[in-house]
Amino acid sequence: MESSVEQGLALLFEESSAGNCAVSLPPNDVSDAREGTRGLKPAARYEGIPAGLLAGEPPPLPEIGEQDLVRHYTRLSHRTFSVDANFYPLGSCTMKYNPKINEAAASMPEFLNLHPYQPADQVQGILELLYQTRVFLQEISGLAEVTLQPAAGAHGEMTGLMVISAYHRDRGEDRINVLVPDSAHGTNPASCTVCSRVAQTVASKPNGRVDLDDLRKKVDRNTAALMLTNPNTVGVFDEQIGDIADILHKQGAMLYMDGANLNAMLGIMRPGDFGVDCMHINTHKTFSTPHGCGGPGSGPVAVTNQLSPFLPIPQVIKKSDGTYDWDENRPKTIGKVRSFYGQIGVLVRCYAYIRSLGPDGLRNASEKAVLSANYLAARLKGHYKLPFAGPYAHEFIMIPEFGDSGVTELDIAKRLIDHNFHPPTMSWPVHHCLMIEPTETESLRTLDSFADCLIKIAREAKETPDLVKNAPHHAPVKRLDEVAAARKPNLRWQA
Ligand SMILES: *Cc1c(COP(=O)(O)O)cnc(C)c1O
Repeated sequence: MESSVEQGLALLFEESSAGNCAVSLPPNDVSDAREGTRGLKPAARYEGIPAGLLAGEPPPLPEIGEQDLVRHYTRLSHRTFSVDANFYPLGSCTMKYNPKINEAAASMPEFLNLHPYQPADQVQGILELLYQTRVFLQEISGLAEVTLQPAAGAHGEMTGLMVISAYHRDRGEDRINVLVPDSAHGTNPASCTVCSRVAQTVASKPNGRVDLDDLRKKVDRNTAALMLTNPNTVGVFDEQIGDIADILHKQGAMLYMDGANLNAMLGIMRPGDFGVDCMHINTHKTFSTPHGCGGPGSGPVAVTNQLSPFLPIPQVIKKSDGTYDWDENRPKTIGKVRSFYGQIGVLVRCYAYIRSLGPDGLRNASEKAVLSANYLAARLKGHYKLPFAGPYAHEFIMIPEFGDSGVTELDIAKRLIDHNFHPPTMSWPVHHCLMIEPTETESLRTLDSFADCLIKIAREAKETPDLVKNAPHHAPVKRLDEVAAARKPNLRWQA
């Protein structure tokens, strides 16, 4: 155990030694609740409580001094991988740098100390910010109205499908089917199920685009919508999008766009202009907010005029007298999808990001994101298999293929950890692939060192495959047995 303490990996329980304490309280000068019980063992003090319910001894909590406690958590925090420390090319997640000015804005006491029960006339500032964010997202998406309520992308998908279902029901139709391409993010079919819709798979062509013949075969009067990510999860923009929208609209079905990849098109094109009826926006991805490990997020949903009567309440509005308010009076609304008003802190960051970049800055961000991805793809071509032809949008997938070396995408990912790079997304949407999304915020130097590293690993995979297969070698935790880790979770460090 000595060595694990040295590495800073001991549990607090292991660092404990009797008598240490992180706080010193003054002596108790108040008598115990029951006269004459002071100093007695707990069991004697709580007469009347059945003996079986009383602990004989205090609980075995770690006993540790303040400085050791601080050091323990500081050491642990240094083991956390973050965008602020290293390159994080996690495909589909848009792990861009999060400007610190966003954090300054979100932690202003004027925002931080608001209470959701305050009446609208006391909180005009935040309402104006939310209203403007709504208008910005309407402009960016090219759609008529945005709700800021959903708490994340997947929650936006659910909200969008509820809105679309309410629209169809309002016209006397219960369209049960939702089409989802085989490359879709797992949340798409899951959202269908949550909304009592049936997800049906649409095939993709070998070039990664939707198979229009298969789509035509599957769309009918029972189709509520197609959920499409564009640019899609293999990193290519489906330029058939106008035809796809026509095929759906002819049958009265809606085109839902999963907006997770919006970072590729800010200011370049607008989904509303190419036929999208409804989309969610992952503001924590496209408009920055630290969002590793599942939160926090925000998933505003943008819709056409046709769908807007069904949006959730409350909606932030600007009244004719120029003041702002919450509108709850929408007769066709699907109702509330979240308590209170949405993920306000994340929306403040989104607003700060949009305002600090401005229209040209947003476009520049997307152009650089696309350039970075295509640059990396060009450097890695020839070392890894790129199953889909470029040009790519803001991410691409590649497959490690090293003959009979047995080196897999998992091994490449683990070896990257030895070089302080976060592994890319793995094994999705194509078996054995790595999905790389560099984002616009990385310097040419970082992109080059990542490409150099992957090229070196490709050489190792051929020459010394065991080195790659046993990676990581330099991380605090070595290769884990992931099956056992899931089946027999043991949180204790074993040296
Ligand atoms: C991230 C992502 C989602 C889910 O969004 P969350 O904000 O994580 O709920 C859905 N679809 C795609 C393509 C994504 O990348």
